Amino acid sequence: MSEHANAPVALVTGASRGIGRGIALALADAGFDCVVNYARNADAAREVQREIEQRGRRATIVGADVSVAADRQRLVDEAVNAFGRIDLLVNNAGVAPDVRADILEAGEASFDRLININLKGPYFLTQLVARQMIKQLNTQQSTVNNPRGPKIVTISSVSAYTASTNRGDYCVAKAGLSMMTQLYAARLAEHGVNVYEIRPGVIATDMTGPVKAKYDDLIANGLTPIARWGTPDDVARAVVAVATGLLPFSTGEVINVDGGFHMRRL
Ligand code: NDP
Repeated sequence: MSEHANAPVALVTGASRGIGRGIALALADAGFDCVVNYARNADAAREVQREIEQRGRRATIVGADVSVAADRQRLVDEAVNAFGRIDLLVNNAGVAPDVRADILEAGEASFDRLININLKGPYFLTQLVARQMIKQLNTQQSTVNNPRGPKIVTISSVSAYTASTNRGDYCVAKAGLSMMTQLYAARLAEHGVNVYEIRPGVIATDMTGPVKAKYDDLIANGLTPIARWGTPDDVARAVVAVATGLLPFSTGEVINVDGGFHMRRL
């Protein structure tokens, strides 16, 4: 049997850029083969695929919009066709509002877009992948209580509990992901599938590019005890920790990767 046949397989949504790219590369370093999902940027996804292969792991790219049911099904089908199994789902794909608008003015179109991509997409993708993981467990491809058994990780945000009145749609979607994590953690524990939420703070990516000056200022003025921008690698390290089984007796757990932003201070 080749080394590849035993490698765990990760499906990372939104892995063409930013935090998802960092997660996919770190998982490859940790021995995972990767399904690199993207929405539009096939070239960027192919570059991530190349970087994973340079690390000696297998990778396949799948263009799929997580907000579209048929795309979600195809994403799971292509992952299973390519590698035969899914051991780790990382719900990372997400978007910011096109325009930040006060909640007294903001419209339904932005709300629908944010909820569909940032909440409904991961909610139903998790359902599909969880069914696949249970099927694998039933056919002995994975074993319950195996620290390397299947896991689900969702990238939410400090916006899950921090009210920003100029992007309520984003905050509501991220708060929903926190409950989603608890729901799947409660439902899947009997199958030995641990479920985690990772809450990044301010991370330097394309998403935060347009608000860079604002956050430079806030960080310089004490926004976070650790006074720097976070990086995709900061988030990726937390994902690798749970993905490699370092928190076997924790599920429904929230891991803050935010430079200490979540602490109340006096
Ligand atoms: P980026 O904008 O840098 O990257 C977004 C990624 O998601 C891209 O790979 C993009 O693909 C993909 N994507 C976007 N829409 C869809 C979709 N409908 N279906 C599938 N893939 C999609 O974002 P970040 O890396 O900054 O953010 C990643 C996650 O982390 C998001 O959920 C975000 O909310 C969260 N987060 C980010 C923080 C930050 O400070 N940056 C802080 C807290 C949380 P493509 O390249 O094809 O467009």
